[in-house]
Amino acid sequence: MMQTYDAIVIGAGVMGASIAFHLAERGLQTAILERKVTASGATGHSSGLVRMHYDLAAESELTFASYKNYFGNWKERVGGECGFINTGFLQVAKREHEDKLRGNVANQQKIGINTSVISAAEVKKLFPDLVTEHFDYAAYEPDSGYADATLTTNSFLDSAKRNGATLIQNCEVTAIHTTGGKVTGVSTTKGGFDAPIIINAAGPWAKHVAALAGVDVPLVTWTHDVAFLHRPPSLGKFPAVIDDVINCYFRPEGSALILAAGEDESLRGEAPDAEDQTPTPTFVDKLIDAMVQRIPKIEESGLHSIHVGRDGITPDQRSIYSAAGPDGFYLACGLSGTGFKTSPAAGASMVELILDGKPKTVDITPFRFQRFAEGKLIEGEYGYGHIWK
Ligand SMILES: Cc1cc2nc3c(=O)[nH]c(=O)nc-3n(C[C@H](O)[C@H](O)[C@H](O)COP(=O)(O)OP(=O)(O)OC[C@H]3O[C@@H](n4cnc5c(N)ncnc54)[C@H](O)[C@@H]3O)c2cc1C
Repeated sequence: MMQTYDAIVIGAGVMGASIAFHLAERGLQTAILERKVTASGATGHSSGLVRMHYDLAAESELTFASYKNYFGNWKERVGGECGFINTGFLQVAKREHEDKLRGNVANQQKIGINTSVISAAEVKKLFPDLVTEHFDYAAYEPDSGYADATLTTNSFLDSAKRNGATLIQNCEVTAIHTTGGKVTGVSTTKGGFDAPIIINAAGPWAKHVAALAGVDVPLVTWTHDVAFLHRPPSLGKFPAVIDDVINCYFRPEGSALILAAGEDESLRGEAPDAEDQTPTPTFVDKLIDAMVQRIPKIEESGLHSIHVGRDGITPDQRSIYSAAGPDGFYLACGLSGTGFKTSPAAGASMVELILDGKPKTVDITPFRFQRFAEGKLIEGEYGYGHIWK
């Protein structure tokens, strides 16, 4: 029997969960259709960094709104847990990027973000176990840290369900139906569902799902290796760090581990379903060589485990939050390996775009789908170049 809803969200990763939370809060009967189980895509493998430093003000605005209204205030705003841990965050910049670092930090301060440019000597004072050669300046955000992407997703979904949303797992969308240029519903492995609003939040599968509505999204997959190292007992406190000098990012993982990954060598264009869950052969050796330059005590560490995750990435490595194709069809995809931290405010802004015609939490119009056809790819105001090389 056909089931009828006000809105259908395809995909129960963090993006779909955030959108469902905000739709249900506005009173829409919402169905979230998930081909496997919640957070089984990119979200379940996310490194979970919550930092506000971007080279694009619109992305900093999204993370700041996400931090201020959600991660820093989760129980009150959403209910449940998101696992946010405040470690502080450092963006270590290449020497030739000093002007850009200062430009980005100035933009972020205008937004209201608690951030400043600090010298390598100041970094050393705050975090004595970090080697501070090979760079002069870093941006420091004392309020940032990391959160648990699976907890975040489930907590959004639980709250959406409390507001009347329906989550259906093991339910793959196999067709999207339109009449007179408007979406009307979907077919799935669990039957048909009707709704005048359909949101594609299918992560690395979003290109395939968009094609079901006749929309061609320039999105490929991005496959990313992440290592967990044992934390040497003598290692003192350190924050979450994106280090553009050694091309790595790392952060504490609880009290016993360190999470670390590289900014280069992530594979592009694997099939979203490829079961290739083994890291690239040079991953660990390269990572440890790089990490030792910044934290020599990593020599005393050992490898705990590795996991491999996959997200969808666009040509400018920025998300798509937009209407596209038939009336009532929306894209919230192409999150390009950085979309966890922005998902709360991005979900709020998407729902405003859908229901009110204009986003108000954060202006997400820079992330419109049409930019690709127009050849107007997004560039940061003080761009560092692509995050993922
Ligand atoms: C290894 C890794 C590390 C990362 N680290 C960070 C980080 O530190 N900070 C940060 O901000 N971001 C990070 N990211 C990015 C962030 O995690 C992702 O951008 C975000 O989780 C994507 O969420 P999503 O909901 O769009 O996609 P997904 O989590 O992939 O969810 C999409 C869902 O859609 C479902 N689906 C697909 N096709 C269908 C269909 N036909 N019918 C029904 N359901 C369907 C899938 O099963 C899946 O559950 C990282 C990503 C990876 C892979």
